[in-house]
Amino acid sequence: MTIKAYGAHAADKPLQSIDIERRPPGPQDVQIDIAYCGVCHSDLHTVRSEWGGTLYPCVPGHEIVGHVSAVGSGVTGFKLGDTVGVGCLVGSCQHCAACDEGLEQYCENGFVGTYNGPTADAPGHTLGGYSQRIVVDEKFVLKIRHPEAQLAAVAPLLCAGITTYSPLRHWKVGPGSKVGVVGIGGLGHMGVKLAHAMGAHVVAFTTSDSKRQAALDLGANEVVVSRNADEMKAHVNSFDFILNTVAASHSLDAFTGLLKRDGTLVLVGVPEHPHPSPSVANLIFKRRAIAGSLIGGIAETQEMLDFCAEKGIVSDIEMIPAQKIDEAYDRMVKGDVKYRFVIDNASLGR
Ligand code: NAP
Ligand code: ZN
Repeated sequence: MTIKAYGAHAADKPLQSIDIERRPPGPQDVQIDIAYCGVCHSDLHTVRSEWGGTLYPCVPGHEIVGHVSAVGSGVTGFKLGDTVGVGCLVGSCQHCAACDEGLEQYCENGFVGTYNGPTADAPGHTLGGYSQRIVVDEKFVLKIRHPEAQLAAVAPLLCAGITTYSPLRHWKVGPGSKVGVVGIGGLGHMGVKLAHAMGAHVVAFTTSDSKRQAALDLGANEVVVSRNADEMKAHVNSFDFILNTVAASHSLDAFTGLLKRDGTLVLVGVPEHPHPSPSVANLIFKRRAIAGSLIGGIAETQEMLDFCAEKGIVSDIEMIPAQKIDEAYDRMVKGDVKYRFVIDNASLGR
């Protein structure tokens, strides 16, 4: 069926209203009427082809929440009316070592992204959540247990939430850990909330002096304005773990130098241009590590949603109609959002 979406026809074109097709639900499919979709910096990188390889028309959006409006005959986990979410993944091979461990994001045969991924559906690549409706294999649909009134603020958990939750768990952050979160944007503000909820001592690193109080309100124990060398120096050799969410190229040495012996700096931000090569001396003298982490698997995403529902954690959002998306992207590039834009998908029909 034909539905309304918001997307771009080229890297240098603004997003606009377009009509797209969704397949009728197959036996294993869940059809979801999308209520809200979060706006991730990856949407912007993709739609403007900053990473290359973008297929057009491009309909971004992988922080999807809504309600089930139809299910296939073989679907067992969902029924009409259920409140559900879809994150960054809508498919994977289901038989490699990674999929067997529930790590579909590391699928050895390539996962299918919610947008810009391979599919038999028209137009030959997946189209994301800036749309009225989506049809997804039930294995990639998440249950949402937050109160309905919080639904819009739950949307960003589907990418920003899981992308920060997964490395915090993998590197065993908890009471007694000193954790840094670099870049207080969509991902970073969730990183602060989640690390705080896990019991860590959290230090927020921001380039924006104006976010100093706001970061404390999110749950940070301390805030460091990273442009201020004296403030940085006070934390040398002290962190177990630092999560770097920054969406732009910068020197990593200022942060590796803050790690303790055996501490790890995990990169989740994927800038358009590479970071300068980090100092080897900074790493070898204290056996420090730089690592990366990609979103999270389906089971862990459900675990994160349930953890957040239990602790009352949602994202801090600014709701926009789809028609304001280009303006929102420009503000996001400037760091001018507290802390996640969320599209009200009802605006797509207007
Ligand atoms: P965002 O909301 O734009 O936040 C990025 C933050 O980085 C900014 O708010 C800003 O925080 C800081 N920053 C400092 N200097 C910057 C600069 N020159 N340009 C842009 N930001 C700067 O973005 P996001 O949605 O959190 O995404 C962050 C990055 O993670 C993106 O590259 C995105 O593609 C990537 N990502 C990766 C994964 C993964 O699986 N690894 C998943 C989702 C997103 P301050 O004002 O506090 O300095
Ligand atoms: Zn994302």
